[in-house]
Amino acid sequence: MCGIVGYTGPKQAYPIVLKGLKRLEYRGYDSSGVALMNDGKLSVYKKKGKVAELEDYMIGKDVSAHIGIGHTRWATHGEPSDRNAHPHTSANGRFAMIHNGIIENYAQIKNELTNKGYSFTSDTDTEVLLNFIENIQQHNDCSLEEALRIALKRVTGAYCILLVDSEDPETIIAARKGSPLVIGVGKGEHFLASDASPIIEYTKEVVYVNDYELAIVKPNELILKNLGNEKITPFITKLDMELAAIEKGGYDHFMLKEIFEQPSTIFDCLRGRLDAVSGTITMAGIDQHIEQLKAANRILIIACGTSWHAALVAEYVIEELCRIPVEVEYASEFRYRNPIVNKGDVIIAISQSGETADTLVALEKAKENGAFIFGVVNAVGSSIARISHAGAYTHAGPEIGVASTKAFTGQLAVLTMMALSIAIQKGSITQERYQQLLTELQDVPEKVDAILKNADELKVIAEVYKDASDFLFLGRGYNFPIALEGALKLKEISYIHAEGYPAAEMKHGPIALVDENLPVVFIATKDSYHEKIISNMQEIKARKGKIISIITEGDEVSPGLSNHVFSIPPADELIAPILSVIPLQLLSYYTGVLKGIDVDKPRNLAKSVTVE
Ligand code: GLU
Repeated sequence: MCGIVGYTGPKQAYPIVLKGLKRLEYRGYDSSGVALMNDGKLSVYKKKGKVAELEDYMIGKDVSAHIGIGHTRWATHGEPSDRNAHPHTSANGRFAMIHNGIIENYAQIKNELTNKGYSFTSDTDTEVLLNFIENIQQHNDCSLEEALRIALKRVTGAYCILLVDSEDPETIIAARKGSPLVIGVGKGEHFLASDASPIIEYTKEVVYVNDYELAIVKPNELILKNLGNEKITPFITKLDMELAAIEKGGYDHFMLKEIFEQPSTIFDCLRGRLDAVSGTITMAGIDQHIEQLKAANRILIIACGTSWHAALVAEYVIEELCRIPVEVEYASEFRYRNPIVNKGDVIIAISQSGETADTLVALEKAKENGAFIFGVVNAVGSSIARISHAGAYTHAGPEIGVASTKAFTGQLAVLTMMALSIAIQKGSITQERYQQLLTELQDVPEKVDAILKNADELKVIAEVYKDASDFLFLGRGYNFPIALEGALKLKEISYIHAEGYPAAEMKHGPIALVDENLPVVFIATKDSYHEKIISNMQEIKARKGKIISIITEGDEVSPGLSNHVFSIPPADELIAPILSVIPLQLLSYYTGVLKGIDVDKPRNLAKSVTVE
């Protein structure tokens, strides 16, 4: 994870780097720091904590510089502290470096360097790599670029690094493998960052750097090379993103803004694809590969975190509509076992950022085995989007709050359209059912809007249970993954221990936890499981658990069994998860806020998990 930013050009670098770090803070906020170079003098400032602490610390310091690099850290090696914060400076003080990723063989390299007399001022793998580069540079008396190339051939792991050299006052050298890097091309200036958000207000022309590429960046020049020192022509892409999309727009938190954006993000996701009037779904990534998708022996969905919950919903929907067997895998497990992947398998990879390290490596592995890869990704141009054979963007816009909300509903919308499209072309669904579901899906944005109008009701519930030490979330069928998602959301941003279970499975263990202090959230919308879940409510009530139910408007039974209810508009059971998750997002949000937690940056988490 970590956010990295760099600038070289005629403007003052510090304000650009600092603003960029604030935009990238969702990626990590254990510490932050900058290296600024002015007239060959390299100054490094760093501080434990969020970027605001660095900003305070910098007051009164001389920050004038036309070249700068900055880092906001998500610690992997060494506790969050001033000394482990980046940038790191090489032993001789000549080079400064920031790094996103993990150098897996750092211990071995550290040993070698220690034997050569090096000592270290931090516990990080980053400082080891930097001194390794310095040592190669000194030993070979070569350029920094050459030394870096030699060093990277020895290194295993993942990195995006930016390096500055006090003897080269206008160049930033960058390299990537496994962690993202975008370079913004301005007029006589260049910007470097982990994603486009720090760049967008200066230029829309960007170059996405690929793995095993090295960039030599000066104000007027951008040279891309591979590790074999061959030049590569930079491919300039135009950013399709507005500045407003990455600002809070009057909301207290990004998370709240993103929850409230869902009527429009889901609409954007459906727009141009789903047309209920003509009864069509147009998705290029599906239409161009329909034969392969229809003929799939098996669909394997690979994801992590909230995306994994979207995958579980998709498993139910695809099996129901397409009659193709579906398996859902955690990417981190899939990549390290010896999974069976056959030629006729289709792999769907789901990732908000498109940079999730575990998912990315899992896909590379599946691709080698001949599987067809379909990416469901939010961040346009991201690594997963680029390595997939085909895919569909969720079009939710930049998601900055660490807890995923609008990306999740976008994923559900895309996966449902995908299932419908395959099913109708495969003939595994009737025209009537297809048409009915298209209409239902088209109505989702309006229904989400109606749910959001009652958001305050969830604030009241959050107030009652904010001091609970545990929560249980129960759902059945299509709403079972939503129970998991509700529990995850609450854990992430309120630090309350929560578990999600299939409601019936609760009898096999979790029921032992139920007493008058345990809030139990039922996702109990009207569906084919409704009577069953009502029985589960009875079981909880009999043991005096406090019941909070998410129900369908007009349900007359659940309110009598529940301490609190929140009603959502009626919807087909296949579509209901896109609606039933919204109140759970709000419940978590309000609980976190009432507990005084920084919900956009909850402790220990980071948004884009680019380390394994
Ligand atoms: N491994 C480096 C550190 O712990 C960078 C971590 C990261 O990319 O999140 O400082």
